[in-house]
Amino acid sequence: MRRFFSFNSHDMAIDLGTANTLVYLRNQGIVLNEPSVVAIETINGVQRVRAVGGDAKLMMGKTPAHIQAIRPLRDGVIADIDVAEQMIKHFIRKVTGGASRFRSRAEIVACVPSGSTAVERRAIRDAVSNAGAARVYLIEEPMAAAIGAGLPVTEPLGAMVVDIGGGTTEVAVLSLRGLAYSNSVRMGGDKMDEAISSFIRRKHNLMIGEYTSEQVKHAIGSALIPDGDGETMRVKGRDLVTGVPVEIGITQAEIAEAIAESVSQIVGAVRMALEHTAPELAADIVDQGIVLTGGGALLRDIDTLLAEVTGLPTVVAEQPLACVATGAGRAQEEAIYRGVLMQA
Ligand code: ADP
Ligand code: MG
Repeated sequence: MRRFFSFNSHDMAIDLGTANTLVYLRNQGIVLNEPSVVAIETINGVQRVRAVGGDAKLMMGKTPAHIQAIRPLRDGVIADIDVAEQMIKHFIRKVTGGASRFRSRAEIVACVPSGSTAVERRAIRDAVSNAGAARVYLIEEPMAAAIGAGLPVTEPLGAMVVDIGGGTTEVAVLSLRGLAYSNSVRMGGDKMDEAISSFIRRKHNLMIGEYTSEQVKHAIGSALIPDGDGETMRVKGRDLVTGVPVEIGITQAEIAEAIAESVSQIVGAVRMALEHTAPELAADIVDQGIVLTGGGALLRDIDTLLAEVTGLPTVVAEQPLACVATGAGRAQEEAIYRGVLMQA
């Protein structure tokens, strides 16, 4: 028990998401929240990091030939190990102010998708460890999300959490500090963005970038098809026929239609989880309902749709984008959650 009381001020939890990385510093809370993007510059064959996080995301789709904006995580796991490591190092340095002496004694909790393989987990552990940690623990993302959302994960009550991220959606049923069921589908916000840009290309002959489609989704995206057209938004892109930049009006109904298939896959994952849940736990879920976390939980009416389809009370967690990092941070801070951390 003694070690719970002697901690390092640079102990932290990292939610290394496909879309966003968050860092929770022990006893301080979330101190960093940036897009998981790195801009790499190549000059005379030599590569160097030009920008990381928010600055790099702003460059996406606008970079000159010698700069590449890279998202080192895909489908929730590391796709580009070198770039991922550079990104983690950069973020850790940012929150510790470069104090490597302290960092080298720090304990870091890293979140891993429940569906990730042993190899994928090792890659995350190594990247965090190389970035400078004395000890690395792993925590499964749905568990972290549930703790962050305030669900009673240490009690013998079943609780369901649906975390909709950029690359994946994870559905889990938790009870007594463990995952009773979990299921991860490679469907999330990124696929919705792709569906929006391909819909607009097909229907309006307009090419729009990844960043613009995400903005459209945030502004007028909806899980339910509205009666009538709903809201309208002006969108700029390049006309495929004439090749010149133009601006057109896009309706909420169109965007809802564009992302309907992605949304239905998320609904399918929730249905499957309910079918696989043991009766006693299912009975708890009837009382507790479903809690939505991750950025995708902010898609308009996704809670209403899931409540309609499942007949279960469905709520969006407070601060859905921060739940995983907050939960991982609390698991490190509070002794009652210690059992959910896995030695890496
Ligand atoms: P990850 O854990 O994979 O990094 P996040 O939980 O940070 O993902 O969620 C990022 C995803 O949430 C992105 O695809 C983003 O576009 C989406 N998102 C954020 N806000 C909204 C919103 N208001 N409506 C719809 N999607 C949103
Ligand atoms: Mg996430």
